[in-house]
Amino acid sequence: MTADLLTAEALACGYGPVPVLHGVDLRVPTGTITAVIGANGAGKTTLLRTLSGMLRPSAGRILFDGQDLRGTPVEQLVRRGVAHVPEGRGVIGELTVAENLRLGALWRRDRRDAARALDEVYQLFEPLARRRRHLGHQLSGGERQMLALGRALVARPRLLLLDEPSLGLAPRVVAQTMALLRRLRDDTGLTVLLVEQNVRSALAVADQGIVMSLGRVVLAAPAERLRDDADLRHAYLGF
Ligand code: ATP
Repeated sequence: MTADLLTAEALACGYGPVPVLHGVDLRVPTGTITAVIGANGAGKTTLLRTLSGMLRPSAGRILFDGQDLRGTPVEQLVRRGVAHVPEGRGVIGELTVAENLRLGALWRRDRRDAARALDEVYQLFEPLARRRRHLGHQLSGGERQMLALGRALVARPRLLLLDEPSLGLAPRVVAQTMALLRRLRDDTGLTVLLVEQNVRSALAVADQGIVMSLGRVVLAAPAERLRDDADLRHAYLGF
């Protein structure tokens, strides 16, 4: 059995006095893709923000590679291999493609490997190599997506937390993004936690599906079961 790279136990979190996550339990096996699915407001984005250290949990535990992450500063989380690509993607429009990518290597101590990782990202995303001197705001939606993903990959993450990567993208670009995630999982053993409204695309690439409702995980199942079991889909996904 694959060991879990990430587990959350009874995780609670919110914004100020407003609770959003009410005791989330989840397990993300190493080298797999997990799709987090659920209606608007279910708490998916809040879950990713909590796992990436942006929000501090009010209760519960987050274990990464067996170690408790509570109270770990974001910088150290990045060093330990957690990368977060937020909704809206966080590309800085006033910086060039190259400058945005270098931000991903900011915390890397091994400068030589950071340069290697940068080269790999340019090979992976050829349009970024061509446009490395263009500003972030001059890029298309698909290119901005590549840049956000590329910036995360420059940090050589072990765990990639991806929030709505398909938002606003053409179906062809969505398919390319999903294929890339699959390739990274298969070739490098990357572990991915993927929040997606585009349930079919996400389940097509995922190993596991997690359904959230009202701040709780209500179902965790192999993605294959969620794809193939019509009753389960009707009950939890509404199609
Ligand atoms: P969506 O698909 O719409 O992004 P989601 O499942 O990702 O939904 P969250 O964005 O985590 O859900 O939102 C969960 C709840 O937290 C919602 O009720 C939302 O209004 C609230 N919320 C989200 N962000 C904030 C914030 N910055 N301050 C206060 N409340 C927030």
